[in-house]
Amino acid sequence: MKPLTFAVLRMLADGEFHSGEDLAHKLNISRATIWNALKEVDEAGLALYKIRGRGYRLAEPMQWLDRTKIASALGAQANRFNLELIDCADSTNTLLMQKAALGAVPGSVIAAELQTHGRGRRGRSWHANLGGALIFSLLWRFNQGVGFLSGLSLAVGVALLRALKSLGVDGMALKWPNDLLHHDCKLAGILIEVQGDVLGPSFAVIGIGINLKLSEQIRNHIDQPATDVYSITGIMPDRNQALGCVLGHMAQVLDIFVARGFGGLRAEWVEHHVYHNKNVRIMLPDNAAEEGLVTGVDNEGALLLKTRSGERRYSTGEISLRAEPRSL
Ligand code: ATP
Repeated sequence: MKPLTFAVLRMLADGEFHSGEDLAHKLNISRATIWNALKEVDEAGLALYKIRGRGYRLAEPMQWLDRTKIASALGAQANRFNLELIDCADSTNTLLMQKAALGAVPGSVIAAELQTHGRGRRGRSWHANLGGALIFSLLWRFNQGVGFLSGLSLAVGVALLRALKSLGVDGMALKWPNDLLHHDCKLAGILIEVQGDVLGPSFAVIGIGINLKLSEQIRNHIDQPATDVYSITGIMPDRNQALGCVLGHMAQVLDIFVARGFGGLRAEWVEHHVYHNKNVRIMLPDNAAEEGLVTGVDNEGALLLKTRSGERRYSTGEISLRAEPRSL
């Protein structure tokens, strides 16, 4: 979306009607230019009413990200982060990986109002509507080598779980290795990209997408059960407070991870694993499948499975996990 579209949307944030003439006058452009700028908002999953004689109105008021409010939600932890708020990114992870390679400081955060090519694992997509999600990436640097980071996506899952719980979301579960679920519906996704030496140092760009209030348009793009905070709690959270809260919990969990590895968070993770002591099917990168009973995860975040041919250990990577209703 063009910068002008964001400028007009900011003027419509209150959810009230604004005439094309008034918008055009304030931005010193023509009414036709306003009309053109707003043509694109469907792509962002936003519902916009255009009524002759009254003007334009967003279906719902929209809260924009605000650096001061995020910092105030972070409180004493604010100085651990270097926040960059942007209107639109292809992918906040891609952008932050580039900045990380150029020396961006640890704690750098890129949060986007809109992400046009959000990525999941293995070329999959992450979808979010403008104003209805938290979409951000966080850079963290480690003295340890990349191998140490194998359990990081699980650790980050614990941080999201704690943060959303403190925002009033109960009944969440984690799915190995990188999903946050609520009653089998996906509430948030984590995409971690790492780089560095075997013996260290290394860094991780931790990409997070959290559904606050999915629009119908965006729901239609998602090919698996999904949910959002609003559907669970009945309240649309304050986006700035929510982002501050999530970042604060991430810093706390990353401190534990750096000091003690994933082992320091393992018990809490296992307690919330949706498939703990359940039969599952593992899909391997070569499309082969393995069935077994989930017995836990180890200190490196690898999944432990009891199969017909004995105990197996699967490290994160390109593996997917699904429930297997048959018992073995
Ligand atoms: P795996 O079990 O291998 O992690 P996954 O389907 O959860 O599989 P991810 O790469 O973690 O894969 O996430 C991408 C997938 O998440 C997409 O293919 C889509 O099905 C789903 N998805 C995309 N956007 C959203 C969203 N906003 N909310 C919930 N789910 C989404």
